[in-house]
Amino acid sequence: MSIEKYFDKNWENINFSQDKQKHLEVILYFINKYSKKETFSYFEFGCGNCYITNFLYQELKDNYQDINFHVSDISRVGLSQCNDDFFKTVVSKEKMSFIELYNQMDIVSSFEVFEHLDKELESHYLNELIHISKQYLLIGVPYKEKLEKRVITCNSCGYIGHVYGHLRSYSMDRFSNLFKDKAKLIEYKLCGSEEIDFNIRQYNLSKKMGYKILNFTCPNCVEEQNDITYFNRIKNKIIGSVVLNKEMQKIEKHPFWIVGIFEKVNVDDKK
Ligand SMILES: [Zn+2]
Repeated sequence: MSIEKYFDKNWENINFSQDKQKHLEVILYFINKYSKKETFSYFEFGCGNCYITNFLYQELKDNYQDINFHVSDISRVGLSQCNDDFFKTVVSKEKMSFIELYNQMDIVSSFEVFEHLDKELESHYLNELIHISKQYLLIGVPYKEKLEKRVITCNSCGYIGHVYGHLRSYSMDRFSNLFKDKAKLIEYKLCGSEEIDFNIRQYNLSKKMGYKILNFTCPNCVEEQNDITYFNRIKNKIIGSVVLNKEMQKIEKHPFWIVGIFEKVNVDDKK
């Protein structure tokens, strides 16, 4: 089964929400602060259905004499919902090059994409983004996500893994070194819904007792699984209130999302 299919299904029904309003505000903050010229070119890698980017464009388009948005995604269903004024590129699963865009874009962005890519693709596309950018890169990923918290077992294909297919978690250190010595993190913000971190013993215990995510689309076989029953809900609630009771545990709370702006180290590098 293909990853394209998973995201095609995903983008059919994701819409703008209150949580996403926060993301939009943070993205706007960075763009308004770091792009003060009369023209603005913006490239987004993995735009999905542009449920944020469509609003972003509306907010920005009158601020510039000339504005150019170029978005890219693996999902054609996603891209079909993006603003008609955008240039659009379908990204393949293979290592694709954006050579025609090198050094063309004022700000290059990517939100909630890199945690889905295996190590090789992650480093390939981070490198591509560096080349596309004239100066700035705006990147958002889940912050310090405890992956074990969202592990599911698919009854259809046997997949055991993260419910959204996240492959890694980003600590502050990992995030600030995303581009190694090629681009430096100059400012970041934490935002989004509150993430509560229990320790792994608590997760394991709750899982053993039968606590589970009741409704999901398998990121491997794209089958939808729905175990929502009255009994399962009550079971989750009881186990949650005993084992995963945040008032009783020493736990860390933080916003789910980190977004930061990176500046290329060699801005004049035309390679
Ligand atoms: Zn499956």
